[in-house]
Amino acid sequence: RSVKPEKVAPAPPSVSHIKISNSDRILFPGSGQTKGDLADYYAGIAPLMLPFAANRPISLVRCPQGRAKKCFFQKHDSGAFGEHVRQLPIREKGGGVEDYIYVEDSDGLLTCVQMGTIEFHGWASRADAVEKPDRMIFDLDPDEGMDFARVRQAAYDIRDHLSDIGLVSFAMLSGGKGVHVVVPLTPGHDWDTHKDFASRFAQALSTAEPDRFVATMSKAKRKDRIFIDWLRNQRGSTAILPYSARARPGAPVAVPIDWDELADMKDAHPFDIGDAVILLKRAKGLKGWGFAAQGLPEI
Ligand code: ATP
Ligand code: MN
Ligand code: MN
Repeated sequence: RSVKPEKVAPAPPSVSHIKISNSDRILFPGSGQTKGDLADYYAGIAPLMLPFAANRPISLVRCPQGRAKKCFFQKHDSGAFGEHVRQLPIREKGGGVEDYIYVEDSDGLLTCVQMGTIEFHGWASRADAVEKPDRMIFDLDPDEGMDFARVRQAAYDIRDHLSDIGLVSFAMLSGGKGVHVVVPLTPGHDWDTHKDFASRFAQALSTAEPDRFVATMSKAKRKDRIFIDWLRNQRGSTAILPYSARARPGAPVAVPIDWDELADMKDAHPFDIGDAVILLKRAKGLKGWGFAAQGLPEI
């Protein structure tokens, strides 16, 4: 783990007011991190995470008995989480309206942790303008066993293609297998335009380099290729939020990185929930990550 400094300061005290029950419960068997460890991580990382996670509809991966037991993906709640988790009625495809959820602060994040949440996924639009997306995500999903060097190269190539059409993008390690290339956008265009752009961009890549890329979800077609998962960019879809923990072995976290740093990364999960202090420290060099005032060009 050469990316980590040798010496780190002790963790800052938790500032949350949320009471965490069963804090000794092991959520990550094998590596041993507990619910209390997870709560401490989110309390520490909240200042970095909230600019991306607050005030946008979220979905939760809840694993009340730990990641190795039953987990579920939760999109809706009508009040069971209490005062720190807000409701947002959103029209569903079928025409009905459901209460989605969002948080405003670290008490909101910690309330979700108290309720067994490990992962936070977010919409690509904000709670005050759900019909106007503000980020486009190209989620690079490599075929099983692919060398990470190929994923890194794909991310760089996508960055360059985006740059050619005038778009600034940022890289995030998912904490799982892949890299997300994130394009911040000034809200204005609608979901149809957003999805159509993402789809055509991914199609163009797979058409130009069919040996490297596919733009369809089919696992059969992924053989030794990277699926450019543009489907994160449809209304109602979510993607893992920056600094969210993952319900995967070892309690890894999704982390924003510099394009330069990506070259040294050996996999998509170099950091875990024990690394809040390191992540806070290195974020000083990441100022501006994920922010750019830019609209979708015509392609
Ligand atoms: P990796 O790098 O390992 O691919 P990832 O976060 O990109 O990590 P994906 O499987 O590519 O994982 O993305 C799946 C996405 O689908 C998640 O980001 C999540 O927002 C969404 N998702 C996951 N589980 C569900 C579910 N049960 N229902 C709906 N959407 C889900
Ligand atoms: Mn992915
Ligand atoms: Mn995906």
